[in-house]
Amino acid sequence: MQVVVADTFEEWRRAARQLLRSDTEPAEVLFRDSAGQRGLFDDGAQLEKTAQRSRRQEPRPAYRVPKEFLDLARKVSCHRDSDRWERLYRTLWRLTHGERRLLEVTTDDDVHRLLTMEKSVRRDAHKMKAFVRFRRVLAEGEEHFIAWHRPDHRIVRLTAPFFSRRFPDMFWSILTPGESVSWDKKALCYGPGVPASASPETDELEDLWRTYYGNIFNPARVNLATMTREMPVRHWATLPETDIIDDLLADAPRRVDEMVARQEGFATSAADFLPMELELRVLRAAARTCEGCHLHRAATQTVFGEGPPDAKIVLVGEQPGDQEDLAGRPFVGPAGDVLNDALSAVGIDREQVYLTNAVKHFKYEPRGKRRLHKRPDAREMSACKPWVEAELTLLQPNVLVCLGATAAQQLIGRDFRLTQQRGRAIVTQWCDNTIPTYHPSAVLRNPDPIRRERLMATLVADLRAAKTHLC
Ligand code: SF4
Repeated sequence: MQVVVADTFEEWRRAARQLLRSDTEPAEVLFRDSAGQRGLFDDGAQLEKTAQRSRRQEPRPAYRVPKEFLDLARKVSCHRDSDRWERLYRTLWRLTHGERRLLEVTTDDDVHRLLTMEKSVRRDAHKMKAFVRFRRVLAEGEEHFIAWHRPDHRIVRLTAPFFSRRFPDMFWSILTPGESVSWDKKALCYGPGVPASASPETDELEDLWRTYYGNIFNPARVNLATMTREMPVRHWATLPETDIIDDLLADAPRRVDEMVARQEGFATSAADFLPMELELRVLRAAARTCEGCHLHRAATQTVFGEGPPDAKIVLVGEQPGDQEDLAGRPFVGPAGDVLNDALSAVGIDREQVYLTNAVKHFKYEPRGKRRLHKRPDAREMSACKPWVEAELTLLQPNVLVCLGATAAQQLIGRDFRLTQQRGRAIVTQWCDNTIPTYHPSAVLRNPDPIRRERLMATLVADLRAAKTHLC
């Protein structure tokens, strides 16, 4: 009987490859985690000797392993169960010894167990991505963000790349009882586990986080039934927002529906990508990696808002158009030209305006070489809403102009009707002077010159009205 010690997927993979080469059957090998006792079969030396002996005896066939299995194995390797390595090797053996379509047999005992493990790991990884909360500490004059988390499985290496993409410009560390990871803005560095008592106690960011959370909260955290399923109680102690849950219950049901629909653990909202730091440049950087809905797949890039951080007036459009998508800036295409004309007509300097959109990725339909604008649907608007909410939380404008029905419905309410409510100042949670008007593209697209002129005059009149609230 051979004994193999493996802690990571790479270690198991290296060992499994050598065992296959030496024709070692699953019943002849025992896998173990090191549990701090490396040395049983440490560096594969014994395996290598076995493999070399075997290679000298006769050539072995080169095995082709389905990518699907490797993806599965990579996740299963993070599972806590000690039998995972043996199951993986047994399944690998069967796949390479006549059962090539084994993974399709989901009723098979090994396959079923591996799929169950993979699902459990995936859910745990999702929870870690959603529930890790960083605390700011100063180390040698340098700002560092530290989080302590207790995952069910060994998922630190699985999730660390996600955090490096999400917080590329911060020094941060995530400590767990089994393993820790740090990011120095260049590379990930793994270290030993850390007990909860070692994590920083104080945090000036917690109040800010609570306020922020009140605006962007994830409904799974406020529906008690869903919450206990999605967020095990043991994570609560590390989440500052849990003490405001009661206040948030009132708005939960609608958003819980969305959350329940994503039980498999994939992001369905920009909320999963929001940074903890409330600053426009940090928000902008985080939005670049947003995958809160499918729109990021076809678009060129995220088009975030731009303008002075102390802007008194904010204009929110629907979504970037073709040229905005290519340039990465809002309102730089033909609709932007119409807007510029309207702003000039009322004497508002575009440089003093913060311009953004309700949805940050371009939604379109390919038509030959052209990309035709498509209106975002309710789900996409809802998914993207946390970005504009975060922008408005920071900007706190005196005047908020909603350009078009999409922006108005997102910020004023779903029942908003442009034809009935346009041009009036409405009090919203974002601004006491929220003024809905036409989107410049409505002017642009209207084929009737007389109607077009009237629409432009209305847009100008509404912006003029908005300007009166600036004083
Ligand atoms: S449209 Fe919004 S929610 Fe969807 S991927 Fe883009 S930024 Fe994220």
